[in-house]
Amino acid sequence: QIEFIQAMSLAGTKEKPEPQLTEKERKRLTIEETQKSLPVYKFKNELVQAIKDHQVLIIEGETGSGKTTQIPQYLYQAGFTDDGKKIGCTQPRRVAAMSVAARVAEEMSVKLGNEVGYSIRFEDCTSERTIIKYMTDGTLHREFLSEPDLQTYSVMIIDEAHERTLHTDILFGLVKDIARFRSDLKLLISSATLDAEKFSAFFDDAPIFRIPGRRFPVDIYYTKAPEADYIDACVVSILQIHATQPLGDILVFLTGQEEIETCQEILQDRVRRLGSRIKELLILPVYSNLPSDMQAKIFQPTPPNARKVVLATNIAETSLTIDNIIYVIDPGFCKQNNFNSRTGMESLIVVPVSKASANQRAGRAGRVAAGKCFRLFTAWAYKHELEDNTVPEIQRMNLGNVVLTLKALGINDLINFDFLDPPPHETLVLALEQLYALGALNHHGELTKLGRRMAEFPLDPMMGKMLLASEKYKCSEEIVTIAAMLSVNGAIFYRPKDKVVHADTARKNFFLPGGDHLVLWNVYKQWSDTDFSTQWCYENYIQYRSMKRARDVREQLVGLMQRVEMDIISNPTDSIAIRKTITAGYFYHIARLSKGGHYKTVKHNQTVMIHPNSCLFEDLPRWVVYHELVFTTKEFMRQVAEIESKWLLEVAPHYYKPRELEDSTNTKMPKVLGKTRAQLGEH
Ligand code: ADP
Ligand code: MG
Repeated sequence: QIEFIQAMSLAGTKEKPEPQLTEKERKRLTIEETQKSLPVYKFKNELVQAIKDHQVLIIEGETGSGKTTQIPQYLYQAGFTDDGKKIGCTQPRRVAAMSVAARVAEEMSVKLGNEVGYSIRFEDCTSERTIIKYMTDGTLHREFLSEPDLQTYSVMIIDEAHERTLHTDILFGLVKDIARFRSDLKLLISSATLDAEKFSAFFDDAPIFRIPGRRFPVDIYYTKAPEADYIDACVVSILQIHATQPLGDILVFLTGQEEIETCQEILQDRVRRLGSRIKELLILPVYSNLPSDMQAKIFQPTPPNARKVVLATNIAETSLTIDNIIYVIDPGFCKQNNFNSRTGMESLIVVPVSKASANQRAGRAGRVAAGKCFRLFTAWAYKHELEDNTVPEIQRMNLGNVVLTLKALGINDLINFDFLDPPPHETLVLALEQLYALGALNHHGELTKLGRRMAEFPLDPMMGKMLLASEKYKCSEEIVTIAAMLSVNGAIFYRPKDKVVHADTARKNFFLPGGDHLVLWNVYKQWSDTDFSTQWCYENYIQYRSMKRARDVREQLVGLMQRVEMDIISNPTDSIAIRKTITAGYFYHIARLSKGGHYKTVKHNQTVMIHPNSCLFEDLPRWVVYHELVFTTKEFMRQVAEIESKWLLEVAPHYYKPRELEDSTNTKMPKVLGKTRAQLGEH
């Protein structure tokens, strides 16, 4: 039992609940009727007129009012695509782009990928016929490289602008510039709440079109005391609601796939044990790597006499609207990219959400009737520990990738780029320095030939560099596999709780000396030797979906490699060549063994450890290159390979000096000599 205290309510604009429909009635509700019930519908003509009258329009409306799904359709109906140009709409998240496109295709009775499509990194589901195109903001950013004036678009909607993702922030500057010389391009900036004035000011006082919200009051409850284990607290709260509260679906906010899966397992287990003592509880996860058939499930109506509980990442905060949510459970955390501009280190960490986020989350409970939000933290914590707003990504992320694309777009003066909120100066400088060290920029800050080729790949500059370096070491076939496997940000190895031992044995069978990158390559190679068998994955505790995705990514990368005229050469037996290539891209990510099994990063002397899942966890090589850092209980290096320090002088001579790479354990002076190294002529 968790004790909750009610402390305040979010005011609603409506008091009386809309009549709850019976299942039969709901089924009869046609798509058309659903469309007409959305708040934006009443403003259809007015909105279309405003768009005709103004080149740039800021649209503000509560989440779920129909902005994303309806406005492109209104514009299509109003003839905005008659000249053969498309309507584009950006989304900060992949799942949202896919799911919304699927929904709109359904509403328009067309096949997804034909008139309505989506484009996300490594996946283009559009065709010549596509007139409404949803895409991630990152994808549009990259589209500028091939179409700098967005010539094939008549309207561009920068949607979910309030999320302030890095790419969305950059897009603001880019589209604002384009609108100046393409007077026929309509620009819509659409946002859930808040920042409308700020956007308006940025876009030369563009008018704001407000879609009046519609929300029922939401009662907010806090826990009496802080909860130590919030996953467990979630499970308890879900069951508590299920047992004591009237029917109505529950939305739970967790931080990521792993957490969602853990919560799902525990919950399923408890539900199973309760058996028929409770009503049916449907447990549905949603996170960014969830396959699309599973995504569709969260939108299916809940059967009568049952309750749906959706376990979501903050994707459900504003990007996706799930109807009929009455209860929200909010532990108050999210996963955030963090970047230390002093050390240049990036990591993904779980942090408390902002007050604005917490209130968005709570608001999700009040769409169809008065709702309740259970916060798994105290009222005191809300008041004193949460920031008011989330810091925009541009102020807390590595800008390497963005700077590379902007340079490739010919934007050289980044300091004076038109930013809505500028990034910290040192972050910008660091990105320039990193690109210089990678060889992508020359000392005038201009793009080099290598940099131009790197910009062709939708990859982080380090990975792009690694891929291109594989040419020199003649192992591009292996490296592209490794790059694809690293890009799949879902788990490769399957580790069910009841088969941990078998799963771990299976995983260890893939181990190769040298490190995790080679293990990843090995898994892919063996899988491809079975002609991509599903059965093989099953038998070896490998996640088939992740592998399929790796194969798609790999295919795309191979295509791009051919475009920049790289040869695909295989050299599977030369582990050194492969690891040198990895180091050529990731020489920023080097750590050396220090005392007690800890590692220290070379440039900044930060303490890090090898992740327990690594094949090197028990070996502890002297020098390692790592793919990424994750912070859980400690700072862990994930995907680690053993290297030799002298390789660094070969792959990054301008970045490492021999002195930094001296091995303290080997260079200890014998005391008897009593001379310094310098006296001995050593360097
Ligand atoms: P907004 O962009 O203003 O937040 P949306 O256009 O995303 O609003 O949502 C409008 C309606 O469309 C919501 O009621 C939502 O439930 C529904 N909807 C969106 N995507 C889907 C989907 N994939 N399946 C079913 N309904 C959906
Ligand atoms: Mg939306």
